[in-house]
Amino acid sequence: IEFSELGLGDKVNEAVSAAGYTTPTEIQAQAIPYVLEKKDLIGIAQTGTGKTASFVLPMLSLLEKGRARARMPRTLILEPTRELAAQVHENFEKYGKNHRLTVALLIGGVSFEDQNKKLDRGADVLIATPGRLLDHFERGRLLLTGVDILVIDEADRMLDMGFIPDIERICSLLPARRQTLFFSATMPPEIQKLTQRFLRDPVKVEV
Ligand code: AMP
Repeated sequence: IEFSELGLGDKVNEAVSAAGYTTPTEIQAQAIPYVLEKKDLIGIAQTGTGKTASFVLPMLSLLEKGRARARMPRTLILEPTRELAAQVHENFEKYGKNHRLTVALLIGGVSFEDQNKKLDRGADVLIATPGRLLDHFERGRLLLTGVDILVIDEADRMLDMGFIPDIERICSLLPARRQTLFFSATMPPEIQKLTQRFLRDPVKVEV
C-alpha cells in the first residue's frame, strides 16, 4: 500500500514525500484510515514502528478545516515525559510545515509565560504532560471543552509513572463526544480496563 491510498489528502502526502518516506509502516497503513474515519482506536505498537506519524499525519488532515479559539485547543496529545512530548512537537513541525496550524507544547521545567502566550493565541494542537496541563487548567488558562481529538500515547508508561489519576481528571474535563486514540506498547489488564473507560467502540490495531 502507498501513502497516496490512505486518504490523507494532497497537502499531507506532499509532507510525507518531503520527509523522504516511500511506503507507510505497518501501524501507519492500518491505523491511518480508521483515524480519518473518526473511529476510536487502540494501537499496540512500540516506538520505532512509525507510531507517531500514524496519528500526526491524519490529525493534520482532520485539522485542515477550522481554526482554534483562544485558550480552547482543538486537539490534545498526552505524553508521559517532556522528551516524548518534545518529539511529537517536532513531528508536527516537520510534517505540518505547509499547514497553517498552531501547536503548543506544555511541559514542566520551563516558564509558564511563553506557554500562556501560545494558549492565548489558540492551539489547534496541544501536546502536554499531564501534570503541567492540569497546572494550566487550575490557573484558569485553558478550557478543554473544545477538544475533538484526544491522544493518549505510551499508556503503559503513564501507568508506571502514576499518571492515571491525572488522566482520569483530564478526561472528565473533555467533551464526552470526541475521538480518542490510545497507544501502548503492551496491554496488561490494567491498561485494558482503561481503554474501556476512555474509548467508545474502538478498533484495535496491533503490530
Ligand atoms: P516513531 O515510531 O514514531 O518514533 O518513528 C520512528 C522513526 O521512523 C522516526 O525517525 C520517523 O521519522 C521514521 N518514520 C516514520 N514513518 C516512516 C515511514 N513511513 N518510512 C520511513 N521512516 C519513517
